[in-house]
Amino acid sequence: ANEPVDPFKQGWLKGIYNEKPVKEVQTRFPPEPNGYLHIGHAKAITVNFGFAKSYGGLCNLRYDDTNPAKEEEQFFVSIREMVEWLGFAPSRITYSSDDFDRLYELAEELVRRGKAYVCLCSAEEVKRRRGWPEHGPRSVCEDWSRTAEENLDDFRAMRDGRYRAGEAHLRMKQYLGTTAEEYEVTEEDSAEVKKEKARLKSLAENPALWDVAAYRVKNENHHHRTGDKWRIYPTYEFTHCLCDSFEGVSHSLCTVEFETLRPAYNWLLEALDHKLPSSDEKGPMQREYGRLNVEGTILSKRRIAMLVGGTTVGGSDTAAETSADDIADGVDEIKLEEEGDENTETPAEAIKAVTTNGSSAGRKIPPVVRGWDDPRLFTLVALRRRGVPPGALKKFVLDLGVTKANSNTAIHTLDACIRTYLERTVPRLMLVLDPIKVTFTNLPDDYLEERDVPFDPKDKEKGTHKVPFTKVIYIDRDDFREADDADFFRLSPGQSVGLLHAEYPIACKTFHKDSSSGKVEAIEAEYGSHVPAGKARIHWVGESAAHNSPVKAEARIFNPLFRASKPNELDWKNGGYFDDVNPESEVVYSKAMVECGFEEIRRNAPWPKEEGEARGSLHPSSVRFQGLRTAFFALDTDSVVEEGKVVLNRIVSLKEDGGK
Ligand code: ATP
Ligand code: MG
Ligand code: MG
Repeated sequence: ANEPVDPFKQGWLKGIYNEKPVKEVQTRFPPEPNGYLHIGHAKAITVNFGFAKSYGGLCNLRYDDTNPAKEEEQFFVSIREMVEWLGFAPSRITYSSDDFDRLYELAEELVRRGKAYVCLCSAEEVKRRRGWPEHGPRSVCEDWSRTAEENLDDFRAMRDGRYRAGEAHLRMKQYLGTTAEEYEVTEEDSAEVKKEKARLKSLAENPALWDVAAYRVKNENHHHRTGDKWRIYPTYEFTHCLCDSFEGVSHSLCTVEFETLRPAYNWLLEALDHKLPSSDEKGPMQREYGRLNVEGTILSKRRIAMLVGGTTVGGSDTAAETSADDIADGVDEIKLEEEGDENTETPAEAIKAVTTNGSSAGRKIPPVVRGWDDPRLFTLVALRRRGVPPGALKKFVLDLGVTKANSNTAIHTLDACIRTYLERTVPRLMLVLDPIKVTFTNLPDDYLEERDVPFDPKDKEKGTHKVPFTKVIYIDRDDFREADDADFFRLSPGQSVGLLHAEYPIACKTFHKDSSSGKVEAIEAEYGSHVPAGKARIHWVGESAAHNSPVKAEARIFNPLFRASKPNELDWKNGGYFDDVNPESEVVYSKAMVECGFEEIRRNAPWPKEEGEARGSLHPSSVRFQGLRTAFFALDTDSVVEEGKVVLNRIVSLKEDGGK
């Protein structure tokens, strides 16, 4: 009766399966290898791999590598690593480019069937024919009515390099030449005719079917895998559905902005007999789920690239964002290649967006973050580096639920999910961020209480460790006040305080300040049964050479990178979120100290134990712990622990309102 609920067998996902309850479910995760994956992709990965797994099927990792200029080895490698880090194993790893020959053959076939033509219109001309920007009447060019033979000759000319980028496109003969009026219903029409006209009218009105390009010429044509073999490359619209079909994909799951592209997806498959008209029985079936967006940060690759590498603002925009090839390509591919405003725009909006163009010199913005894996970002490499466990991310995605609705989630909602996930799964240690030395004047130099402390009081499995209490300990600056205060229950000259895991309270006798900084640097105190009990207990780290305690560390505390709750909505072209960067987004404590149990935690990583990340070589961030009364931390990649360099990242605070 207490079977865990399989989230893939509920609600919308169950509905998708029931629409096509095949025995062999096949899905795919199809990233373009043009950047690092972000938290939104964690949803795409979880949905595609999880769906297949729940229905006993398979999921491929498909590199949708049809845009040579933007693809780099580092992206291919990182994408695969992130899929594996999330605990999924691709059934097959495929590359759209491996099917370039087959795709080309099918393009010729489409031409032979009279369903594609070579169009020599400029981008401007195409926009005009599509009724932009005035919403005027649409029209096709003369090339539309050429014979299949003529088109085939010209398509081969494109292939053979006789056109430059932007000069020629192979266009699918869809609905550009039709008008809504053609499908106006009349009194005489039967119910059936009316229905068919309504269907055709909606197709005619869909910009995704306005003779979208199937192939374009690339000037920068060197491809990561196929080298200089091709000068023409297939578009997303031509490639995606066919590769789905080649791979036997049953359920092609993608995000909602592709919904208007669904008729185009089916159009091509039907035109090439990879699907039965108006049926999902044969061939892949596209369905769309809502995008996951985290507010308070920037997710689009193109925009993160500007945070990583710096940019220019306040000047000409489109030129900076778009490569020469993109501009030459014209309007078709822009929707998918321009990582347009978080991709929520419809193709029509995206087409409009790139037609506005200004130009003037701008203001230089230096890099804002350390790199693509800066823990303040929401790329998957950054979340991993920060120490977010992959299981917490998957739980986050599934807790939000998978439906057609886009979800805009605040950072604190994600943090709350991570916090809950870590609460019972990682061990606990004492860590002092900003230490003040405390010497007990009433204890002998070699005083030692070796306490046996559980790593998690509620989970015996995690074991115990030795905590040395000695004549010299360190406490956190926050736990001490120079002057007594009725509202302050920790250590001050007139107020004793308890110590976690130690027998007796401590009382402050005197304290000393550093003459230059004016900050308290040392306290003389007493420890023992004679000290009045304090109202609180604080954490501390003992000094014991025999225990290698304390472990010295640099602790990095991260806060939101932007002050605005929706930096995306700030107009970056005029400075926008670049001018809104939070000066406190990274606070470094360079003299932090951790108790020596850290060494055991490190040896016994990963924490939590149940994760896919236990396979293969461990990432430093799998060394996670809760710093008592402080925050959750993970080991940073900058650490060289053997040489005594320990860098810790705050994963999340212990409570929503933060503190440290
Ligand atoms: P971006 O432009 O945001 O950097 P993208 O859309 O270009 O990302 P792709 O590599 O094309 O990323 O996407 C691979 C898959 O991930 C696609 O199926 C896409 O729908 C999905 N995906 C991308 N962003 C999100 C998101 N925010 N939420 C859920 N799925 C997403
Ligand atoms: Mg993309
Ligand atoms: Mg995109």
